[in-house]
Amino acid sequence: MDLFEYQGKQYFARYGIAVSAGGVAMTVDEAVAQAELAKYPVVIKAQVQVGGRGKAGGIKLANNADEVRLHAKNILGMDIKSHIVKRVWVEHASDIAEEYYASFTLDRSAKRHLLMLSAQGGVEIEHVAVVDPTAIVKLHVNPVEGLSLDSAKRAVVDARISEKAQDGVAAMLLKLYECFTKGDCDLAEINPLILKPTGEVHALDAKVTLDDNAAFRHPEWDEYRATEELDDREKLAREKNLQYIGLDGSVGIIANGAGLAMSTLDVVNQVGGKAANFLDIGGGANAELMTAALEVINSDTKVKSIFINIFGGITRGDEVAKGIVEAMKRVKLRAPIVIRLDGTNATEGRAIIAAAGIAESQLISRSTMLEAARTAVEIAGKK
Ligand code: GDP
Ligand code: MN
Repeated sequence: MDLFEYQGKQYFARYGIAVSAGGVAMTVDEAVAQAELAKYPVVIKAQVQVGGRGKAGGIKLANNADEVRLHAKNILGMDIKSHIVKRVWVEHASDIAEEYYASFTLDRSAKRHLLMLSAQGGVEIEHVAVVDPTAIVKLHVNPVEGLSLDSAKRAVVDARISEKAQDGVAAMLLKLYECFTKGDCDLAEINPLILKPTGEVHALDAKVTLDDNAAFRHPEWDEYRATEELDDREKLAREKNLQYIGLDGSVGIIANGAGLAMSTLDVVNQVGGKAANFLDIGGGANAELMTAALEVINSDTKVKSIFINIFGGITRGDEVAKGIVEAMKRVKLRAPIVIRLDGTNATEGRAIIAAAGIAESQLISRSTMLEAARTAVEIAGKK
């Protein structure tokens, strides 16, 4: 689950990470009230779960109530990369001497936590990553040993953080690491992490993704779930307990297993198409599950073809085939299905599909994943 900046800052604060005081506002009047509390000058910040708010005009400084009104009015309702701003965060503006970047993620292939640190933080960090990748120091952390102050200090020196900020940034990294591990984050990112003219190190932005698998030990996350912004497709999928993530392409995807679902996205991409979603139906394949999956995909008006990619292991091909045939009776699909069925009982499954006598305009079988992807993309059109 992704947090809004203001929630991320609350989360940071629990671990002693310095953030500015402020408040959330959903109306212009509330924004003015929050500004008075925070004391001028303030910064008005669009709360959307997407980066680049600054560049999009979603972050403005205000010196008085009139300026707060003007900016809050412009920012509330603003569309930032298809995210509509419903809330702004108003905090006391900080003076900035330098902007750094710091984050922790999990590097699955290395089986280590990964610290990324740069002295060139701020709104151009993606650009820095492309033109001068050496300006971003990467340090793997053994999760059993954790991050030591010595390693943090070494990273700070390697990243060429100004001498006067080194101790402050190293201390901040330890707190951020604690937030990342004890707080069960998939991502904990501060950009910019600022050095104030007074010498203090301070988090000016917060990007936090919580690991949903750890939700059972964090009852306090419920309040974040209440503000979570899901699109209609994702809401429907959640109601139906499906592992679904909405994307913006035109090929609907159903696969069994997260790995196969990811590969399916890649193959669709490789043959020039764009997936409309990620959907892993796991080990089950009965008519109820298949119906639920097809209903969610069918609710997405951008979908022009549906690629069902099944490799039977524990999941049996004949069960899948029965599930699809039955689900197709229940859901009136707007787009044709292209199916690739392989693995356990695939032959029986294909026979069931053939015997159902469904028209080729509604259900097309292909014997390999690549051919199926090509057909699905041909129907949906290239990206
Ligand atoms: P993002 O563009 O979505 O990453 O939003 P950020 O919260 O990172 O803000 C973008 C930029 O706005 C920062 O890099 C700062 O340069 C600037 N900014 C944000 N807050 C303040 C503030 O309190 N004071 C000043 N002077 N600039 C700020
Ligand atoms: Mn930022």
